[in-house]
Amino acid sequence: MSLFPRNILVLATRNEGKVKEMQLYLEGRGVEIVTASSLGLPDVPETGTTFEDNAMLKAVGYGEAAGLAVMADDSGLEASALGGAPGVYTADWAGPERNFRMAMSRLQREVEAAGEDRRANFVSVVILRWPDGRILRARGEVCGRLIFPGRGTGGFGYNPVFMPDGDTKTFAEMTATERARYSHRRRAMDKVLAELDR
Ligand code: IMP
Repeated sequence: MSLFPRNILVLATRNEGKVKEMQLYLEGRGVEIVTASSLGLPDVPETGTTFEDNAMLKAVGYGEAAGLAVMADDSGLEASALGGAPGVYTADWAGPERNFRMAMSRLQREVEAAGEDRRANFVSVVILRWPDGRILRARGEVCGRLIFPGRGTGGFGYNPVFMPDGDTKTFAEMTATERARYSHRRRAMDKVLAELDR
């Protein structure tokens, strides 16, 4: 993957959980991975109404600020009982303090009030962007169900309340390697990296 200027790839996120996960999936590719935070890049507001829009805003915003190739992810949790909410607003439900306990409580309250449906899926849209504006883009999803109260402490965000179909552990009860088998972000990144390797 020596296809990037100065052989550097910037992860276009300030979310440390995502950074760790994306680093894991890029291991062994012989490219230097740096983060938006380590470069001191200004925050990019996520004002879009779709995962695609927000991934593009981050790819362009961080990419132009750094003048380097970037990999951006926009992701979220869609609860079937809530018609797909919180969706693109998944991070916002945690408030400016990024309080995910509060966000998961709200999710539990609203989903339980809506009935018995516990189906949910995580979605990730990943964009790889070069400084000349070329992009590769892919979407990854994992279907599962919501578990209340949440279980486990691994990873980040809503992991304690999400159990992927085909498993009996929540994402937060899994190791990073176990989670990688199901991860929406992994699925999106694998598609982008497969395109890159063609
Ligand atoms: P954004 O992509 O920066 O808009 O943030 C998406 C939000 O969705 C994150 O802050 C997490 O709360 C949540 N999220 C996305 N992917 C995951 C995951 O793999 N585990 C847990 N929460 C996630």
